[in-house]
Amino acid sequence: MTFLAALKPVGLAVLDTLLPPACLACDAPVAADGQFCVLCFGRVSFVSAPFCPSCGVPLPFVEAAGAGGICLACEANPPAFSQARSALRYDAMAKQLILPFKYADRTEIARGLARLMARAGVKLLDRADVLAPVPLHRTRLRARRYNQSALLAAELGRIAARPVWQDMLARTRPTVPLGPLGYGARREEVAGTILVRRDVAGKSVLLVDDVMTSGATADACAVALRAAGARRVDVLTAARVPDPRMG
Ligand SMILES: [Zn+2]
Ligand SMILES: [Zn+2]
Repeated sequence: MTFLAALKPVGLAVLDTLLPPACLACDAPVAADGQFCVLCFGRVSFVSAPFCPSCGVPLPFVEAAGAGGICLACEANPPAFSQARSALRYDAMAKQLILPFKYADRTEIARGLARLMARAGVKLLDRADVLAPVPLHRTRLRARRYNQSALLAAELGRIAARPVWQDMLARTRPTVPLGPLGYGARREEVAGTILVRRDVAGKSVLLVDDVMTSGATADACAVALRAAGARRVDVLTAARVPDPRMG
């Protein structure tokens, strides 16, 4: 055996011990990238039935829904998108994944989150002609340096073999943080701030975002896309605030 041939497997083994695939949420070693360790997997809350068939919000019990299982908020204000689905409930565990992904340059988390999203959104990905991220306003993009939703959209496009139009949507002005606002005020704040920059006529568009709270932002995007001729707009997010419009 030559010196190089003998060295190669050792070199790879050393590299493996230096960079073993780590759990999405902690540093525990796992078999492959983008997985949870057994302990963390047990703490993850996936969005599961019952949830609203329209906006995808987890419902505390089936009786919380109105006619056709639709949640009372969707019944009162039908969203402009067809269906929204999310992989995870936005609880302490989901925050442990999403906050570092969003604010601390942990961009590699996109791949693992996208895998979970693909599972929750099989039907939406299947009927999508094209994917697009919910846009950040350019001042916020400059501060954060990347749009976390764009990274998720890119990974999902790869997984589902769908085109991703990263520049489909833009924000015309920055919005104030929606957190403290009630549902009506959120809707008002984002209404008319979304610009459609690509020809979406006749297309089934899947919007991608990290967290869905009231759905006001997704709704504003859907209103703009439908006005631009999109045939259908669906929404797929990594996490969903469980009880968004009750507060
Ligand atoms: Zn873990
Ligand atoms: Zn709903």
